[in-house]
Amino acid sequence: MVRYGMVIDLNKCIGCAACVMACIAENRREQALRAIGEGLPALEKFKKRTYVNCHIVGTYPNVAVYYTHMICQHCENPPCVSVCPTGASYKRKDGIVLVDHAKCIGCEYCVQACPYGARFWDPYLRSIDKCTFCEHRLERGMEPACVSTCPTGARIFGDLEDPNSTVSKLVNSGAITVFKKEEGTEPRVFYILPMRKRWG
Ligand code: SF4
Ligand code: SF4
Ligand code: SF4
Ligand code: SF4
Repeated sequence: MVRYGMVIDLNKCIGCAACVMACIAENRREQALRAIGEGLPALEKFKKRTYVNCHIVGTYPNVAVYYTHMICQHCENPPCVSVCPTGASYKRKDGIVLVDHAKCIGCEYCVQACPYGARFWDPYLRSIDKCTFCEHRLERGMEPACVSTCPTGARIFGDLEDPNSTVSKLVNSGAITVFKKEEGTEPRVFYILPMRKRWG
């Protein structure tokens, strides 16, 4: 059985945000166009499925820049699923955590339960939304939009059950870490930390 995962190599990330734009174009085009049509207040509230944040450390002239990424971690033990009262939030056998928009009542229990801030209320869908690992593209044999768009290969996607996949090799190399390990969620998004700065 396939079990999907992603590695984000923060050493390779140049902060261009092409992944963020690709995700909007692929998954939230209609919502973005509506927000643009409504004007600046709607645009300022517009939520994305993934973010790239810039961090600057040190003082001039000894300054380093690195980037961190927010994205659904597609947790093995997802609290967003266990708290959902309607079954709208669910995990597939391949590990992808999804939201059934037709079943979502907007209670936002899952938003509160997610330790990663990966979920948000979408006023256009009238549902919670979040990263889907672009499951519709996977069905067509394509990689997620953010992965195929990244100019540096910083986002790597594949089957964690296949020992020969690049993601498996990176995960098994020990070079990776997971975000908020203490939460016990067992994320399926892994990070290779930037060499100049490591967090606990
Ligand atoms: Fe980083 Fe790649 Fe995203 Fe650019 S597209 S911000 S290099 S992960
Ligand atoms: Fe659920 Fe949050 Fe984990 Fe995604 S990161 S599976 S939304 S708990
Ligand atoms: Fe489930 Fe929707 Fe409530 Fe989240 S907001 S817990 S997906 S019903
Ligand atoms: Fe967006 Fe797809 Fe990348 Fe998730 S995997 S952040 S839905 S482009």
